[in-house]
Amino acid sequence: MIRPGRMIKQVLQSLFKKPATSLYPFVKTAMPDKFRGRLKYYPERCIGCMLCMKDCPSDAIVIKKIGDKKYQAEINLARCIYCAQCVDSCPKDALEATKEFELAKFSRENLKVVCNEETCRSSETKT
Ligand code: SF4
Ligand code: SF4
Repeated sequence: MIRPGRMIKQVLQSLFKKPATSLYPFVKTAMPDKFRGRLKYYPERCIGCMLCMKDCPSDAIVIKKIGDKKYQAEINLARCIYCAQCVDSCPKDALEATKEFELAKFSRENLKVVCNEETCRSSETKT
């Protein structure tokens, strides 16, 4: 059992120490290299091979042909488990795992992202 005198000393010492915890979300945390966060799609690089779709364990990504050699990715961020298998499978580096991790939305519908050459946006109306 800690004696009161020792306990008070520890409390006073703690008052002047830098906290072990971070002040997130007030202080942003830097994600490490190779962090697997939100996917980024580069439509201009995509050849529509569908390897990303085939290898995705969560059925979270759909590639659709929208024109002559033009494709779009539909990514369901609610289904995605951020394994980055699609990034590894893509032969054209058309997918990238970013460091973005703050993805919470009020509705699952808002976690469906449509990305093509014209637009790369969430289905949510951005404010
Ligand atoms: S990161 Fe994993 S779960 Fe998400 S779309 Fe790519 S393969 Fe599917
Ligand atoms: S694996 Fe890459 S090139 Fe192939 S469809 Fe997916 S994003 Fe496009």
